[in-house]
Amino acid sequence: MSDKSYCSVSKKCNGCQLSNMDYQRQLKYKQNEMRIRFNRLLNLEKITPSPLTLHYRNKAQFVFREDKDGKISPAIYQSSDRTAVKCRGCALHTEKQNAVGLEVARLMEKYRIKPYDMHRERGTLRSLILRESFESGNMMAVFVCDGRSKFGISEAFATELSEKFSYLKSIITTKSTSNKLTPGDNPKVLFGEEHLIDTLLSLRFVISYNSFFQINTRQTENLYSTAIDFASLTKEDTVLDAYSGTGTIGIIASEKAGKVISVEQNENAVKDAILNAKLNNIENISFVCDDSERYMKKLEHEDAKITAAILDPPRAGCSKSFLMSLSRVAPKKIVYISCNIDTQLRDLRLLSKCGYKPLKAQGFDMFPYTKHIESIVCLSRDKSDDYVRIPVHTKDLQTKAN
Ligand code: SAH
Repeated sequence: MSDKSYCSVSKKCNGCQLSNMDYQRQLKYKQNEMRIRFNRLLNLEKITPSPLTLHYRNKAQFVFREDKDGKISPAIYQSSDRTAVKCRGCALHTEKQNAVGLEVARLMEKYRIKPYDMHRERGTLRSLILRESFESGNMMAVFVCDGRSKFGISEAFATELSEKFSYLKSIITTKSTSNKLTPGDNPKVLFGEEHLIDTLLSLRFVISYNSFFQINTRQTENLYSTAIDFASLTKEDTVLDAYSGTGTIGIIASEKAGKVISVEQNENAVKDAILNAKLNNIENISFVCDDSERYMKKLEHEDAKITAAILDPPRAGCSKSFLMSLSRVAPKKIVYISCNIDTQLRDLRLLSKCGYKPLKAQGFDMFPYTKHIESIVCLSRDKSDDYVRIPVHTKDLQTKAN
């Protein structure tokens, strides 16, 4: 059954790869993918549907296009061919995000701000990133301007935009020097606050202009609470929260655990994590700014007593050396959250060689209408030889551990 009516540009835009399926079919497709990939894993739980199937994104990214007559429109960047599809309203964004995108296009015409043209390498505004707190409804607008252009977004532009939308609490401009749409390291607050605040499972978290925060806020609560349930934490546990970003998982887990150590390599994310722990009066957590592999080696030599580990690496997965050190530190339980089943399977295969038995897996639909699946696998240390071998797929062989 086709369901293209939800979006007027789904035929042109490749952001939604499953736009030809209704939501129930998408879930079946994703559960089936999980079943095929994890085919001999003991227990595959049912995929958790997204609480919102449309307008679920707390972050929107627009680029802009200018017609020959000078008319500027918001557009969605297509990474496959570096083009942009004009879009007055993406169905995965909230309506508020789409409204700000349209108004920014209008103000660009008024203030003569040219959209950046990637092919000709000309123009000013590379992208507009909007971040929205689902708790308060407040929004941050981040203008990513080309590093070579003299003129960025002016205060007059920012003031006019903020006056139009009362929920816009922060307007930030940054310059990008690389050939990217993402913000550079030089933010300037033109209006309002430096951060937004959102809640996950009743705890408060700051969102900075460039920090990682899961995109689908309501489904993130399901993802994190299941990951923490899978670890069956008690006050006896010392938990390693690896690839911790702004400390979200570790802070939520700290309510159940005795102690949490969060490790993350991005300095700004660690600063936000410390702020987050303070905001929530959490004291049984410490933050380490380091490469997970190097830190794990250190723990190994310190003979650290880690009883549980929650891993949430980026798409590339964990390094072989990290996993080997982790298995020598020997936590009883490992919970592995992933947005890439290929690298997750590769890493699970190594962990199962090191004596960890995968007990169960569960999929989470974090991105309805797209092909992406987030999966959690729970493993426990097993001395016997009858643990489950992870099946090898030819696709996995292409993504070798570092
Ligand atoms: N658990 C967090 C963040 C997950 S994103 C959350 O749910 O919000 C993955 C994080 O891993 C990013 O913050 C990235 O900076 C970090 N990272 C990537 N490679 C790393 C490494 N080698 N060592 C430590 N952190 C790393």
